[in-house]
Amino acid sequence: MNSMYPTLKLYIDGVWRDGSEGASEPVYNPATGEVIATLPHASRADLDDALASSRAAFAKWKKVSAHERSTYLKKVAALLRERSEQISQVLTLEQGKPLPEARVEMVYTADVFEWYAEEARRTYGHIIPARNTTHRQMVLKEPIGPALGLSPWNFPGIVPARKIGAALAAGCVSIIKAAEETPGTCVEIVRACHDAGIPAGVVNMVFGVPAEISSYLIASDVIRQVSFTGSIPVGKHLARLASDNLIRCTLELGGHAPVIVLKDADVRKAARVAATGKFYRNAGQVCVSPTRFLVEAPVYDAFVEEMTTIANSVKVGDGAVEGTEMGPLANPRRLDVMEELVADARARGAKITAGGNRVGNQGNFWAPTVIADVTTECQIMNDEPFGPLAPIMPVDSLDAALAEANRLPVGLASYVFTNAMDTARQAAEEIEAGVVTINHVIASMAETPFGGVKQSGDGREGGAEGLEEFLVTKYVSEGPAV
Ligand code: NAD
Repeated sequence: MNSMYPTLKLYIDGVWRDGSEGASEPVYNPATGEVIATLPHASRADLDDALASSRAAFAKWKKVSAHERSTYLKKVAALLRERSEQISQVLTLEQGKPLPEARVEMVYTADVFEWYAEEARRTYGHIIPARNTTHRQMVLKEPIGPALGLSPWNFPGIVPARKIGAALAAGCVSIIKAAEETPGTCVEIVRACHDAGIPAGVVNMVFGVPAEISSYLIASDVIRQVSFTGSIPVGKHLARLASDNLIRCTLELGGHAPVIVLKDADVRKAARVAATGKFYRNAGQVCVSPTRFLVEAPVYDAFVEEMTTIANSVKVGDGAVEGTEMGPLANPRRLDVMEELVADARARGAKITAGGNRVGNQGNFWAPTVIADVTTECQIMNDEPFGPLAPIMPVDSLDAALAEANRLPVGLASYVFTNAMDTARQAAEEIEAGVVTINHVIASMAETPFGGVKQSGDGREGGAEGLEEFLVTKYVSEGPAV
């Protein structure tokens, strides 16, 4: 157990409590393998309590004015900012990312609450000019109902914030189930909601076996919205469950982000920028991580050389130790995947120019890895690596790069490096993805819409669009007095 880490509880109807049947699981520090806490699991009775609490709270919360909801959410943002240093330490302990990166995540997390606080007051409807001039035809936006948020282990702050913040801003209540690997940050977010005075039942938090919790809650007649961030197979499974009750889904699933580097770009600068997204951001465990490097032939060698130099210079270690630039992978499963992808690429003739191996034998560390001369036959060009692997492939032209970018059935983030305006525009128009950035790799902020196309998911988080996921449209027509 670690004294910096919070005591973990469920939060149901405004009360912190253990699971009623006593089930639990250990939470590990991925840098050391040590157990840092015990996480209680919710029983079915606990889930029933959370559902009843949500139902009752929704009846009241939807009638709270947008202005007042906004004030609550601003308070949450302020509390998260006040507590940011302590929560960042919790985040690093459970997730592994270096402390400076955890601090940046907490800035973003508070920003999300603030953004939704502002946006809560702008759920505008509109008036439709009536054919009958004695009628008033109004389009109103209303909250869809109690929402279930299912968030993963890679961004324990930002992702729960998006799900809770958007739901509450829209007038919905939220049951959040954060990843069991990284529950502490979400516990701190929910504590901020509690301390901000958000009424009991507006936010409930449960943990347990993910498949059991999600199937039970989705099958209830309470939940009207499910927002999931995670892998494509799990997203499809949840969409199938939700379809039984025609529950609306927001799905943020995997990607395999192409990075197109064209010959007119400053190739070394492009490599440095792309490497930031690849290695220095959560060790590549990001759904928008740059993952398929498609580099025009004349600048290919220089790009590989620069990426190799950068990869070899990254300081890998415990995220809590000063100076660490890349932390461990979140769990041992990821190490097995890295092993498999590298072995496959090697067997198919690709060259490992940096890394390619585990670091040490304690904690889940993997060396920043550059794999040059990959082909589309390599598994890594088809399966999202979700780790610090940078496969690089030469391409002959923009058209060839676009064909490769669009070859896979996913489309979340995509990146283009070029200084030619017409090339940038063509790429932005032709890439099948929810996000395209030109000459940088910042794919999302609180105020921008984020999400994928094809099998990368459906719906958006962030921006004004993020709120729409939690709203339904009602048409009201008033006639003259009778
Ligand atoms: P996984 O598919 O087992 O789990 C992914 C997430 O989904 C976890 O948070 C897990 O708790 C949750 N989950 C799993 N089954 C569930 C269910 N039936 N109901 C509700 N939640 C469920 O994969 P993993 O080994 O944890 O991660 C590996 C893959 O997941 C990665 O390769 C990546 O593609 C994907 N992933 C994506 C994101 C993202 O930001 N989009 C985040 C984490 C993981």
